[in-house]
Amino acid sequence: MTKKDLDRYKKLLLKKKEEVLRAMKHIEQDTLSQSQRDASGDLSGYTLHMADIATDSYDREFSLGLATNAQQILYEIEEALKRVQEKHFGDCQTCGKPINRRRLTAIPYASLCIECQSKEETKRRGAGPSSGLPPELRG
Ligand SMILES: [Zn+2]
Repeated sequence: MTKKDLDRYKKLLLKKKEEVLRAMKHIEQDTLSQSQRDASGDLSGYTLHMADIATDSYDREFSLGLATNAQQILYEIEEALKRVQEKHFGDCQTCGKPINRRRLTAIPYASLCIECQSKEETKRRGAGPSSGLPPELRG
């Protein structure tokens, strides 16, 4: 990978980092304002709120999930930036082969080539429960 390539991916990484940071801030404010509303014990809106509670807690779980995910992506971006610095950028962290350029452009913080990534995902899926539904609720 040439210096020009590295520069290009570095820019992509920094841009992505900014996006993730902005998204995280947004989620934080969202979650914060929601817990403040809950803690205020505002009874005037209570009935309405009760009707809403299911969606509310779903939303919160969803944004917390997003926040965790964003943190993970941020970490991966930092690692990728380190690899740019050390000029290892673009090498698969498992097998050492160069990662497909098109993949890097789409996910500049990718640390595994497509084969290693799909192997990882199969491994992870295999370890988890096969279905969220108990047998009596299936079919
Ligand atoms: Zn690989």
